[in-house]
Amino acid sequence: MKITALRAHPVSVTLPATFWVGNSSFNSATVVVVQVETDQGLTGLATLHGRGMKTVCAMIHELQDLVVGMDPMAHEAIWAKVFGITTSSPDPSQRPRSAVFNADNRAQLMTALAGIDIGVWDIKGKALNLPIWRLLGAQRNVLPAYVTGGYYRSDRPDGGLRDEMLSYLEKGYTAVKIKVGASTLEADIKRIAEVRDTIGPDADMMLDGNNAYSLAEAERAIAAFTEFKPAWFEEPIHWYDSYRALGKLAARTHVPIASGESEIHAWACRDLVDLGGVRVMQFDAARSGGVTEWLRVAAYCHLHGVAMSTHHEPHIQGHLAAAAPNGWNVETFPDADRDPIFANLYTVRAELRDGNVVLNDLPGFGFDVDWAFVEKYRG
Ligand SMILES: [Mg+2]
Repeated sequence: MKITALRAHPVSVTLPATFWVGNSSFNSATVVVVQVETDQGLTGLATLHGRGMKTVCAMIHELQDLVVGMDPMAHEAIWAKVFGITTSSPDPSQRPRSAVFNADNRAQLMTALAGIDIGVWDIKGKALNLPIWRLLGAQRNVLPAYVTGGYYRSDRPDGGLRDEMLSYLEKGYTAVKIKVGASTLEADIKRIAEVRDTIGPDADMMLDGNNAYSLAEAERAIAAFTEFKPAWFEEPIHWYDSYRALGKLAARTHVPIASGESEIHAWACRDLVDLGGVRVMQFDAARSGGVTEWLRVAAYCHLHGVAMSTHHEPHIQGHLAAAAPNGWNVETFPDADRDPIFANLYTVRAELRDGNVVLNDLPGFGFDVDWAFVEKYRG
């Protein structure tokens, strides 16, 4: 079998409100749909976190020069060939340097590589007639999910967290994550108290700072939040000091530290474990590096007692968490206001049921997309 073409489609849906997290806001949901085509009639699909979509799509198109003709079963060789253009290796097989890569767009190249790699794994499952969770050796296809919600929303200036949390409990969820760090500490304490009061003492509540705090601010924040029993404190520290300062914070609190969604390769995840003291790793296969890199991160974390929790794209990354020995839970976005793409893009995919992600038995990642939706919201 040989790869014959790569295609990438940007999708963008305007949201009904502006959503704020710790240090940024957004008012659209975006995804890149990738197709990896083969000479055997099998097409691999991927959906990617849609950051820098136009650049990612252009790169995937241009990366055809490197991977067309390769065997899609050879995921390590494909990964190494694409990643190879990021270095100055004198290996003649990697010449000429691809015009799509320069040092300004490393992150987008890692996203493009994720699209190719996930598509290749989807082909692998389809060729072997196995769902990826089984191909990777999992025994379970149902695993615990949690909701990411609790944003600061322009259409809810008074919070509205109680009603929102009740809607998740009604769906069967027993774990919710809310955003912190975009408000004063006093206001955030009130929001957290309201959520804990609503969900009761037994449900899990995670707190996500999205890189909002300095070390000193994060120490004050977690000291104030601890009485509400957070299950983890996610990405608390500013982006520029995300390893050593995180390690200091981890040593000063009993609340587990979670991080990894912003890292673009396994070496950075190693540093989060070694220097950052993280106990929950959230490396995102659909943002950087794909399945192949996720499995490397998971193995390193397993050896260091760090759990794997997924970030976005539960229909893909649920398969990985199901199989990893340290796979824990799966992030989901059941609120269609926040994630109209997960609600509407797919003709079939993993389901969210009673607070769990339920993976199906279809080969590959078990999802397909509605191409009319892709055309309507082409970004
Ligand atoms: Mg996060």
